[in-house]
Amino acid sequence: KEVLVEVENLQVSFKTYGGTVQAVRGVNLTLHKGETLAIVGESGSGKSVTARSLMKLLPLHTSVIGQESSIRYKGREITGLSEKEMRALRGSEIAMIFQDAMTALNPTITIGEQIMEGIIRHQKLSRTEARRQALEMLQLVGIRDPEARMKQHLHQFSGGMRQRIMIAIAAICNPSVLIADEPTTALDVTIQAQILDLFKMLQQKTGVSIIIITHDLGVVASIADRVNVMYAGRVVESGTVRDIFYNPQHPYTSGLLGSMPRLDRSRKEPLQAIPGTPPDLFAPPRGCAFAARCSCAMEVCASYQPGTTQLADGHAVDCWLQDARARHLAPGRRKTA
Ligand code: SF4
Ligand code: MG
Repeated sequence: KEVLVEVENLQVSFKTYGGTVQAVRGVNLTLHKGETLAIVGESGSGKSVTARSLMKLLPLHTSVIGQESSIRYKGREITGLSEKEMRALRGSEIAMIFQDAMTALNPTITIGEQIMEGIIRHQKLSRTEARRQALEMLQLVGIRDPEARMKQHLHQFSGGMRQRIMIAIAAICNPSVLIADEPTTALDVTIQAQILDLFKMLQQKTGVSIIIITHDLGVVASIADRVNVMYAGRVVESGTVRDIFYNPQHPYTSGLLGSMPRLDRSRKEPLQAIPGTPPDLFAPPRGCAFAARCSCAMEVCASYQPGTTQLADGHAVDCWLQDARARHLAPGRRKTA
């Protein structure tokens, strides 16, 4: 399958008054044409930063993308592109959908103007043609009476409808890649399911590739083809939805699955969360970042960062349990892996 986005060794750090945070520490990621890739992890795992890096939507003066990091879009390296070149790519080729429409969109401009703006700018269409396409797109994303709705403002729509509008704005320029960062997190379960169905419908209709960022494994199960599990700024396991749900190989993935709310469990019963907290990314640990919380941790884990072990077809894991070299590494010796 054609590769649309390929990220290699992505490193992103942020300068703060308290020091430098290494938010993303060597992420690799591949997105194929027409697929949905979920990036799943707790807050602070680096999943949003990874997604924003793909569009270079990081704070200009405080964020640094590592020298050896590579982000290729349709084979073209984009890490060195200017803001002007990125602007041409954003929206028309790669579009982003956020969790909260009220902060992502302009509440003072009508919905119609906001949807038309992108196509007028990127495709240089007349207002009449832009309007026609905007109406069609609103209809497609399930907004009834689009003629009247075009003249309204964001606050006149429910949470679910706002997400539909944000999806319409993102989809109208027919991008190849849609990046959705927690697009359903603020919605109740019924509306969430409708929005996920909308993504699936759009994908079937346009062949768009989707990257969905979520901490919710229910969302992953319902929409993703492949999954990258992130922990402390790294991808610790990647594979198909089937691999991740039925054959998890990283102790963190297993832990996440264990803490997933189940239908047969009463709502009042607390989730079986993974004990402990993620490491401090101001000073990332030398070895496996999950070691302090891992019930399988071995001596080698605290000293050496595990490399990536390729399992069956496309299933990969960063864990010493899967790496035959673990037993040759005595603690204290320099990393040879
Ligand atoms: Fe646990 Fe070691 Fe695997 Fe890290 S490398 S997840 S500490 S077993
Ligand atoms: Mg986030």
